Amino acid sequence: MTENFIKENNIKYIKNANLKKHNTYRINATCDYLIYPKDKYELLKILKYIKNNELKYMILGNGSNIILSKKHYDGIIIKLDNLNNLERKRNILTIEAGYSLIKLAMETAIMGLSGLEFAGGIPGNVGASIAMNAGAYNNSISEVVDSVEVITDNFELKTLKANELDFKYRDSIFKHKENYIIVSCKLKLKPTKKEKIIDLIKTRSKKRRETQPLDYPSAGSVFRNPEGMHSGELIEKCGLKGYQIGGAKVSEKHANFIINYNNATGEDIIKLIDYIKEKVKEKYNIELVLEQIIVD
Ligand SMILES: Cc1cc2nc3c(=O)[nH]c(=O)nc-3n(C[C@H](O)[C@H](O)[C@H](O)COP(=O)(O)OP(=O)(O)OC[C@H]3O[C@@H](n4cnc5c(N)ncnc54)[C@H](O)[C@@H]3O)c2cc1C
Repeated sequence: MTENFIKENNIKYIKNANLKKHNTYRINATCDYLIYPKDKYELLKILKYIKNNELKYMILGNGSNIILSKKHYDGIIIKLDNLNNLERKRNILTIEAGYSLIKLAMETAIMGLSGLEFAGGIPGNVGASIAMNAGAYNNSISEVVDSVEVITDNFELKTLKANELDFKYRDSIFKHKENYIIVSCKLKLKPTKKEKIIDLIKTRSKKRRETQPLDYPSAGSVFRNPEGMHSGELIEKCGLKGYQIGGAKVSEKHANFIINYNNATGEDIIKLIDYIKEKVKEKYNIELVLEQIIVD
């Protein structure tokens, strides 16, 4: 049935797609269908079909904050790679959800527009990064969001202003309203000397390379930092650096990173997460909170 709908509507898709290159942990998993709507109207049509037929689905950005828990995702994965437009009017940019955040950070730096210096090392897409309220160095994307265009659970295309998005630390309404999908956004940046922005991004990239295990697949920080503390430090003090379950390993370089050391499965990663949580709870009576999203 799904395949008929996809074919009739000439939608770009892959059946039984391999997701290894679509998640930064490089977990080897598959899904029923991986589909690429050509624009927001086609996305809308697909979402209506999914709802009417009660199918399982998810929107995938660059897969840099997810853990595919199973070897097969028995549903439809929608990638917004074709929603990739950028328009500039002075210091206001209108960007579609599938745009790469790292690319945008570099491009805005070259334009001499400040506000995304924190994002030079965040390998996500713009839509997902707003949903996650991605950030670093005490800045986050919420500070530059003017508005977002969304598809609501009633299949309306609607513009929401930043103050309606309930942004918090790595949190926004999108993490609680699963069927709200960002299709584009307006970001408001500040004109600044481009050399200053480029220098800052370069210095920070160098620091990341020195302190983070970027030579192994991961999905960035595993746990949120508890108020006034660093999860990495707590994990390290439990003696867990280098601890391994299956192919998943606590990075020796940064203890709040789990790396895919040797063909890790989602299950290996989740078991390691549970083990770390248990040890930190035992030693410090602190419940670590997962920053990454487990996809069932
Ligand atoms: C090496 C490395 C370093 C990192 N450093 C940082 C960092 O410094 N700061 C930080 O915040 N994060 C960091 N991350 C994590 C990650 O890059 C960010 O969370 C990023 O914003 C996720 O974007 P994505 O496109 O990969 O999202 P995905 O992992 O694909 O998706 C994340 C969630 O967003 C949802 N989603 C996707 N698109 C949309 C949409 N259009 N509308 C609504 N929901 C959507 C998905 O369904 C999923 O639930 C890092 C990751 C790596 C691998």
